[in-house]
Amino acid sequence: MNKDTQALILTQDTEPSWQYQLGHCIKDLESLCKFTALDINKIAFSTKAHREFQLKVPYAYAARIQKGNYQDPLLLQVLPQTTELEYYPGYSTDPLEEADANLLTGLIHKYKNRVLLTLSGACAINCRYCFRRHFPYSENSIGADQWLAIIDYINADSSIEEVIFSGGDPLATSDKRLQKMIVQLGDIKHLQRLRIHTRLPVVIPKRITEQLCEMLQSSPLQCLVVIHANHANEFDLDVQDALSRLKQAQVTVLNQAVLLKGINDTVIAQKALHLASFKAGALPYYLFVLDKVQGAAHFNIEDQQAQTLMQKLQCVLPGYLVPKLAREIPGKPHKTLLAI
Ligand code: SF4
Repeated sequence: MNKDTQALILTQDTEPSWQYQLGHCIKDLESLCKFTALDINKIAFSTKAHREFQLKVPYAYAARIQKGNYQDPLLLQVLPQTTELEYYPGYSTDPLEEADANLLTGLIHKYKNRVLLTLSGACAINCRYCFRRHFPYSENSIGADQWLAIIDYINADSSIEEVIFSGGDPLATSDKRLQKMIVQLGDIKHLQRLRIHTRLPVVIPKRITEQLCEMLQSSPLQCLVVIHANHANEFDLDVQDALSRLKQAQVTVLNQAVLLKGINDTVIAQKALHLASFKAGALPYYLFVLDKVQGAAHFNIEDQQAQTLMQKLQCVLPGYLVPKLAREIPGKPHKTLLAI
């Protein structure tokens, strides 16, 4: 059996397993153009930007890009463009200054009562606006020794109530590894909640396996999954099914999004996003203004414009579907809400 065949663990309905999908994403412009019916010569693609932060899109997500649409909001989130190379003052490689809070390999302790673990440096998709696009994941990979140090750290600090699995994408890791970690965390008496920040239920919905749901349901910790979708078109029936599997396992599901110029910066797009998110089973949580990460300035929306947009959004959605407009300010002990 060759490597590809081994990886292709087909399920009954013959859709490739999530592992196969994760290992076989679109990673070059030619394949992306072919799949989305775009003319390669009409795209402001930057090879340099691609070298710095590789193009990566799972087929399940690329299938939701409208064929032949150069301005498709899903396409623009993943396409390395020449605009990324322009220099803007105030944009940095570590906009949230997380290095100072990176107290142990793989552990960031920024907020009281919560620690964040960078469980996996891998993502299924490379989002061009990602504030961790320059994060030194290789220096933060969690092996057996690092994991023991993390468990010791959490055990020793009874003020920690919540562990957040982040990344990269924490669900890029295997169920077997997750199972061990979740069981060990569940044995820590002062821990109450486990939160998983992941884009995988949206970009490869098949990732929400029965085994994953069972381990979350059987944990003594209250489990939350915070998905990340920025546009209504990111939701389809497969995403809806994935989220219902989580909800059947008593997991609370929330969505957080980033306000992105040219992608979701209108009242119509925002309204559609939060309605689609709710319909699929995720309550809108945060709408973040862009973190000023180098290479993403072309997505930025000024605060005033964001606040005006939210004021209008409040008039067309019930309160429970309006996310909190927020930004993260380095050194602050919580997210900062923008008044609307
Ligand atoms: S960490 Fe999240 S936002 Fe950043 S590239 Fe990965 S999936 Fe996208």
